[in-house]
Amino acid sequence: MSGWSRRKLLASLALAAAGQGAIVNGWQARPKRRRLAREVTPIKGKLALEDYEPKSMLHVTETQVPRARFPVIDFHTHLSWSARRRQVTEAHNNATPEEVIPIMDRKNLRMMVNLTGGYGKVLEQTINYWQKPHPDRFIVFTEPWFEKITEPGYAQFQADQIARANALGARGLKLLKTLGLYLREQITTGPLVKIDDRRFDPMWEAAASHKMPVAIHTSDPEAFFLPTDRFNERFEELNAHPDWSFHGKDFPSNLELQEARNRVVARHPRTQFVVLHVGDSENLAYMSDLLDRFPNMHVEIGARIGELGRQPRTARKFFDKYQDRILFGTDAVPHGDDTPQQIFGEALYEIYYRFLETEDEYFDYAPAPKPPQGRWRIYGIGLPESILRKVYYENAARLLGLPA
Ligand SMILES: [Zn+2]
Repeated sequence: MSGWSRRKLLASLALAAAGQGAIVNGWQARPKRRRLAREVTPIKGKLALEDYEPKSMLHVTETQVPRARFPVIDFHTHLSWSARRRQVTEAHNNATPEEVIPIMDRKNLRMMVNLTGGYGKVLEQTINYWQKPHPDRFIVFTEPWFEKITEPGYAQFQADQIARANALGARGLKLLKTLGLYLREQITTGPLVKIDDRRFDPMWEAAASHKMPVAIHTSDPEAFFLPTDRFNERFEELNAHPDWSFHGKDFPSNLELQEARNRVVARHPRTQFVVLHVGDSENLAYMSDLLDRFPNMHVEIGARIGELGRQPRTARKFFDKYQDRILFGTDAVPHGDDTPQQIFGEALYEIYYRFLETEDEYFDYAPAPKPPQGRWRIYGIGLPESILRKVYYENAARLLGLPA
């Protein structure tokens, strides 16, 4: 769910509006709960949930998949973000190409799409750092210039920025869930700006004109909209990241957010939308209905194999039916230690490959001692080679205008 990068991006967004330091501090000053591994002995039969690390006693097949069977495009990564310090916004890179490329080679990862390329000067810096020297390995997307929404003429300005980004080399447009859940009329105050706000219409159209797919993250797991209590299946995740909860206040419901996104997709049939995180990965029947209705909608699976892999039979049918419109992605963040399900590295890719390529049972969806998104494990869906080729590479290549 891009938690790590999102907080930093939101911080940079908030900083751009004068006098919002308190909010930024609220995001940044949250103490990190780091605990050293220690021996925990249950006292009087009681054991804290956070100390519970049960090991499965199942004797089942464990397949190592060190390398994807076919070349891969990772459509959802965060190699960089926009950092704002002392009134200056600059590109902050989470890694160097020299650090990333050897891992890509070992994992059969041909290309990474860095979605959070920013806009303006940052976008230029990001393209110059990743894409220009390695055009066959990295692609950079741009993002909307939301701070300008308070200014008259924003709609046209934003459309012009898409054209400018395209001229710089940006290959797509990325929307964080900022749109719908954070961006307000006065940036950080006032009513939330709706996803289908008409001011963005020229932006969606400009993306279509420049053949730039739109990667859009809308809403979040359904449990994030419920109280963080003993019935919440993501209690530990929300407890560790209280700012991920959208329960109460003036937040729209998950369904309202998804429906606003759907109206945008319907209104701009020329624009190709890649709905990140499978849209609503907990409700594949709902997503099937949307994919049937909107031929310009595609889905990407980043940070959601935990959901897909605990409904393997439904997921397998979903991959069969929509094999031409599902894209591989991980939401990988180099050194993103806050979110183990997203840490860029060999272990992460091996889990994704195992999920897609094998029929292994009951394994961890993240390289972490405890499942970070919820207390369950997953099952592989053993896709046939024809579907693997499409999901790993061909579907993304088609949208990005790359050779098949
Ligand atoms: Zn992300």
